Amino acid sequence: MNKTCTKCYSSFKKDKENFRILSNGYWCSSCRRCEKKRNKIWYNANKKKHQELVKKWKDKNPEKAKKYSSSSSRKYYKNNKEKILEKKKIYRSRPEVIKRNNEWNRDRRKDPKIKLKQNVSRAINYALRAMDSSKDNHSIWEFLDYTSEDLKNHIEAQWESWMNWDNYGIYNGGTRKWHVDHIIPQSKLLYKSMNDNNFQKCWSLNNLRPLEAVKNLSDGSRK
Ligand SMILES: [Zn+2]
Repeated sequence: MNKTCTKCYSSFKKDKENFRILSNGYWCSSCRRCEKKRNKIWYNANKKKHQELVKKWKDKNPEKAKKYSSSSSRKYYKNNKEKILEKKKIYRSRPEVIKRNNEWNRDRRKDPKIKLKQNVSRAINYALRAMDSSKDNHSIWEFLDYTSEDLKNHIEAQWESWMNWDNYGIYNGGTRKWHVDHIIPQSKLLYKSMNDNNFQKCWSLNNLRPLEAVKNLSDGSRK
């Protein structure tokens, strides 16, 4: 199902990637791209005001501010894990949430872009963790100069004739499969943060191509 943004009048797939869900449960009427643009313009025009607002909010909500600061969020999570999980469980068991999640999951499985996106995110997570680091609550897409759509187009443009989204994945001895390969391997471009030059090199579009997957991939280049 598509949804038209009330700001730019473009039509996007109605999902979390393109539209935000407001705290009242409704979809935001403008797309994420427009929201981002608007936030940026507003932020630049109101930098001082924004900083004051943030400070005011922090002074008024010292506990929450502590909770939301990325350095202490992990600690907070650790100390309140059960409470948080219980809250999540109650939220997830609401019928409208179950319905929405089921719809998303159905779309997810069908959408190669989402699969690709998840795999990239997972690979980066894995690489950072191997270096005793983490994404620290940041989205990888904040650090990449392309969108998941760009990545998908870049990969598709390099497909060999037999490649398609149905045979994207891990080879297990059956039909031919392909995966996203790093031309300069990840093992030669280690990074501790998404700000590192190596991260940019490793995940630049120039370094990514579709490649036929071979067996034992998980024992070799992935590590
Ligand atoms: Zn828009």
